[in-house]
Amino acid sequence: MHEFSAACSIVDTALQAAKSNRASKVSVVNVEVGEFTFLVPEQLIFNFEIASRNSILEGAELRIKTVRGRLLCSDCGFEGESKIDPDIPDQIAVFAPMKCPRCRSSSTKITGGKDFVITSIEAEIVESPSS
Ligand SMILES: [Zn+2]
Repeated sequence: MHEFSAACSIVDTALQAAKSNRASKVSVVNVEVGEFTFLVPEQLIFNFEIASRNSILEGAELRIKTVRGRLLCSDCGFEGESKIDPDIPDQIAVFAPMKCPRCRSSSTKITGGKDFVITSIEAEIVESPSS
């Protein structure tokens, strides 16, 4: 249910942004998702469709841009983009320390790519003069 709670959070944030901009219908929600969130884009889109039902977000397209995770290694000082070890299954990788791509040390700290943000929303704003 990891993706469902993330989808609900995206829907809440997008709804607030849409309301404060007096949008009547949201067509696109652009999000940047960090690789270390371990969110599966297809699952996120599926859950977004469920979470957005019966709201002005219903039918909106969720566009996901994946952001590479970043690590800081306390052994060799490496700081930069890192890949999830393809040999480690996702379910385990969430709990496993990320290895430094330079020295293979596990004394690393995640410095980026562990959250998701809405970067922009495309919406239709219908002016209603009476309200
Ligand atoms: Zn290192």
